[in-house]
Amino acid sequence: MTSPVWHPYQRLNHSSNPAPKPPKVVGGDGAYFELEGGEWLLDACCSWWCMIHGYRHPRLVQAITDQAQTLCHVMLAGLTHDPAEQLARELVRITPEGLNHVFFIDSGSVGMEVAMKMALQYHILTDRPEKTRMLALKRGYHGDTSGCMAVCDPDNGMHRLFSPLLPQHHFAPAPTAPFDAAPDDVEGDLAALREVLERHHHEIAALLMEPLLQAAGGLNMTSPHYLRGARALCDEFNVLLVFDEVATGFGRTGKLFAANHADVTPDIMVLSKGLTGGYIGHAATLATDRVHDAFRGDSDIHAFMHGPTFMGNPLACRVALESLRVFEEDDYLGKIARLSEVLTRELKDDAALNACDAVADVRVLGAAAVIEVHDASALDGVREFARERGVWLRAFGRWMYTMPAYITSENDLQKITNVMKAWFSSGLADQR
Ligand SMILES: *Cc1c(COP(=O)(O)O)cnc(C)c1O
Repeated sequence: MTSPVWHPYQRLNHSSNPAPKPPKVVGGDGAYFELEGGEWLLDACCSWWCMIHGYRHPRLVQAITDQAQTLCHVMLAGLTHDPAEQLARELVRITPEGLNHVFFIDSGSVGMEVAMKMALQYHILTDRPEKTRMLALKRGYHGDTSGCMAVCDPDNGMHRLFSPLLPQHHFAPAPTAPFDAAPDDVEGDLAALREVLERHHHEIAALLMEPLLQAAGGLNMTSPHYLRGARALCDEFNVLLVFDEVATGFGRTGKLFAANHADVTPDIMVLSKGLTGGYIGHAATLATDRVHDAFRGDSDIHAFMHGPTFMGNPLACRVALESLRVFEEDDYLGKIARLSEVLTRELKDDAALNACDAVADVRVLGAAAVIEVHDASALDGVREFARERGVWLRAFGRWMYTMPAYITSENDLQKITNVMKAWFSSGLADQR
């Protein structure tokens, strides 16, 4: 019997050519999960970048269990509770200075929807109602809901089919200067941003970006100087700066938040994926006093009309609090620095890998690494190849990447990088 579960992002093959059945996961422990039949796989992408503590972390499991004994859920409209209050305080403490207000939602996409609604309403409330469009970056990804699809990369994103449904926004080129670029090297990228702002700032409410690391767009990395330049341009043109730190937040780029590399405070910042250590879906959109205080007032248009049923869910807030405690007490930034060293040594600095014909570029930032190839077909079959070697590795497009859980040991990380390199040294990438 075929399964009624409809899986994401894949074609449903014709019955004469059925898709392979997805392996069934029955448990997990640390950086590994277990399949039915007893096969264990080392997760190279920590379940879409969110399981930063790995599976079945005893403290996170205990936090959810304890909270479940007390209060699983209650509405946040007109009520409050300790887990939401405490998590909001913690997020204000750890995020860049000035982000003092926290709006909870249930996913990263909805967090970005909230960011865009806040930006638009902010300008309405400060007498600039003509600012109704967003400025986003090519190669960006901000989620799959309608509002988010409209600000994902318009050409190579995965939402082309829906363009008739979507509002038209403005796009600037993806930044090209690498992470370690000198200030001069980002001038071209910033000039391209300035050009769009000069022409259209009167109708632009906010500039949206995944700071430093455009994750789903192929792990495209850029420099902290670009973030500083973008901050200055937003101030000049009265445009709000929104950082989508759904993927970069909680250590992925080597600092707690990508914004910390540049000492920049965005006006609005969105967090999700790592927020709860991946244990329950949740998200938070943070705003500065400037944005928040514009909503003070007595008219109808002052209320912020958004309120997901599960916002501030106590189980999610409680596990997020525990996740943050573990992150600080177990020195995760130190662990991330060590993972980054291994990724740099084993991939970025590996002469043989870089010399492969199929390989276009190798990049590392924090606990994220990508091998970019010239032609996507060079990665056909990577998943099966890696699984035979005990690793769960999902390549997409022209990118083979790893974003491991931070608790991954050096040996395990080397197991991942060895599999990534073996694909190229075996010549499999060249035969495609
Ligand atoms: C995953 C992701 C989102 C969407 O988050 P969901 O929780 O899947 O809705 C938004 N922005 C970025 C940068 C992401 O990586």
